[in-house]
Amino acid sequence: MEVFKGTKIVNGIAIGKIKVYKAPVYTISEELVSDIAAEIARFDAAREKVQAEQNALYDKEMKAGHKDTAGIFEAHAMMLDDEETLIDPCKELMAEGHTAEYAVRDGFDAAAAMFLNMEDEYFKARSADVIDLKNAMLDVLFGADTANLQGTEPAILVAEDLAPSETVKLDKSLLLGLVTRQGSSNSHTAILARSMNWPTLIQCHDVADDWDGKFAILDGYNSCIYIEPDQDIIDKLSAKQKEDKEKEAKLQELKGQPSVTKDGQHVKLYANIGGPKDINAVIDNDAEGVGLFRSEFVYLNSKTDPTEDEQFAAYKKVLEGLAPRMVIIRTCDIGADKTIDYMNLEKEENPALGFRAVRICLTRPAFFKRQLRALLRASAYGNLGIMFPMIISLWEVQKCKGILNECKAELEAEGVKVGNYQIGIMIETPAAALCADELAEEVDFFSLGTNDLTQYTCAIDRQSASLEPFSNTHHPAVLRLIRETIEAGHRHNTWVGICGELGADPTLTEEFLKMGVDELSVNPKSILPLRGNVRNADMSKYKTQSPKPEAKPEPKPEVKAEAKAEKPKGFFGRLFG
Ligand code: PEP
Ligand code: MG
Repeated sequence: MEVFKGTKIVNGIAIGKIKVYKAPVYTISEELVSDIAAEIARFDAAREKVQAEQNALYDKEMKAGHKDTAGIFEAHAMMLDDEETLIDPCKELMAEGHTAEYAVRDGFDAAAAMFLNMEDEYFKARSADVIDLKNAMLDVLFGADTANLQGTEPAILVAEDLAPSETVKLDKSLLLGLVTRQGSSNSHTAILARSMNWPTLIQCHDVADDWDGKFAILDGYNSCIYIEPDQDIIDKLSAKQKEDKEKEAKLQELKGQPSVTKDGQHVKLYANIGGPKDINAVIDNDAEGVGLFRSEFVYLNSKTDPTEDEQFAAYKKVLEGLAPRMVIIRTCDIGADKTIDYMNLEKEENPALGFRAVRICLTRPAFFKRQLRALLRASAYGNLGIMFPMIISLWEVQKCKGILNECKAELEAEGVKVGNYQIGIMIETPAAALCADELAEEVDFFSLGTNDLTQYTCAIDRQSASLEPFSNTHHPAVLRLIRETIEAGHRHNTWVGICGELGADPTLTEEFLKMGVDELSVNPKSILPLRGNVRNADMSKYKTQSPKPEAKPEPKPEVKAEAKAEKPKGFFGRLFG
C-alpha cells in the first residue's frame, strides 16, 4: 500500500479502480507556410466550431439546472470573440507564415501567461480558461477524437489537470472521484467538483501514469489517496463510506421539514452566498432564505467598478431566483483582506482596522449610491434585506439610511418602482455589540458577524495562521457579546441572526437557541445538518432550570417592511411613506 497527500476540495470516500486521464499531445510544425489565407480560414473555422461546442455545453448545463457551470461555457464562447486578447495575436503569427496550430499554441499561451501574472486570484484562475480553449482549438485543428478518454468502467479519475470543458464532458455515472496534480481551490474544476459533490483531491504532486488500473481509495476527509490499500484500510473506509451514504440519505429526508426544536422553538436557517451562481445551492440545500449575500464578490468578479445596471442584474437574478425567500444583501465590504485594484485604496499599516466597508461607502457617496440604487431597483423583484457592514456608531447607520432614502426618492421621481425591504446591520465590532440597544432602534434586524466580532474582541488577526494557538472561537467574551446583542435586539423588536462561521458550529446550536437567536445563516452545505441538530434539540430542559423570563418579545414582528411602522423612533415610517 502507498499513501499520497493532496489538497481536498470535497470530503467523502471514493473506492475503485484508477483511470489515468491523458489529453492528447500534439507535435506542432515550426515550418513556415506560404498560403497565409488558407491558415487564417482554418483558424476561423476552428474558432467557429469551438464556439458552437461551448454554446452547446452551455445549453446542456442550463438544461441540467447547473447555471453556475453553464456560465463558464457562456464566458468561453464570448472569449473566442475577443479580438485584442486572442484573435489578433494569432492572426499576426499567421501573417508571419506560421500555421494555424502554431498560432493557436503561441497566441493562446501568451494570453494565458498574461492572466497568470495578474495579482488578483480571480483573473489568475482565468488563465486555465484560455488553456482550455487552446486545447479545444488544437483538437479541432488536428481532427482528434477525444471521446472515450475516460474509459468505460466506473473509476477514480486521475489527471494532470482538467479543463472545465473536459470535466463537464465526463460521464458522471462513471466518475467515483477526482485527483489532479495541479489545480487551485479557485479553479473551475474545483468549483465543478464542489457543485457535483465528487470526492476530490487537487495538488497531489505524486500522481503517476502507472497508477492506471490500480485499485485505490480516495479519502477526502484526510486529503489522501491510498494506492492498493491494505485490507484494514479497505474495511475502515468502506464502513465510513457506508455511514456517509446513510447520513446523506437521512439529511435528504430533512428537506421540506421545519427547523423547529422538539419543544417547538423555531429558528430560520438561511444560507451565505457570493452571487447568482449560488442560487442552486440555496435551493438544493433547502435554505429558507439568504442571510448574507456578500455583494463584494460582484465587485471582485468585475475588472472595472460595476455599473448600477450590472449590479442591478446580479441582485435581481438572486432575488427573483429565490423569491419568496428573503435575501439579505450586504453592501460592499471591500478593504482589509479584500482589495480591488480599481478602487485605488491606499496601503495601510493595519488594514483590518482601516478603510473598509461603510467607511469607504460613506467617504465615496457616488460609489455607494450606485449600489443602493441597484438594490432599491432590485427590491421590486423579491423579498430584500439591505445590510450595512462594519458599523461602530449610530451616526453611521443614520447616514447610510439617509443616503438610501435619497436614492429611493430619486428613483421614485424617475418613475422607477421600488419594492418593500428591511434594513439591518452587521454586528461585528465590540462597539456595535455594546451599543446594540441604541442601534436596534434604527433597524429591523441585526446579523452577528462572528468572524470579525471574534477578531476584534480577542485582538486576533483572523488571517494569521501563527496566532491559531491563542485563538478561541468559543471565547466567553464573544459568546457574552452575542447573547447581549440578541437580548438588546429583542428589547427593541429587532430580530437577530448570526451569519459568521460560528453559526454553523454544531456544538453551539443549543447555546444559540438558548440565547433565542432568530436566524442562523451558514454555508449552504451546513443547512441540512444544522436542521438535524435543531430538530434533535429539546430546549424545555433549560426553560425549567432557568426561571429567568426570555427577553424575546411575543409575538415576534413579521419579516416585512410594514413591521417598521411599529417603531416610533425608526426611520421606516418615513422610508415607506
Ligand atoms: C463576519 O465577519 O463574521 C462576516 C460574516 O463577514 P465576513 O466574513 O465577510 O467579514
Ligand atoms: Mg465581517
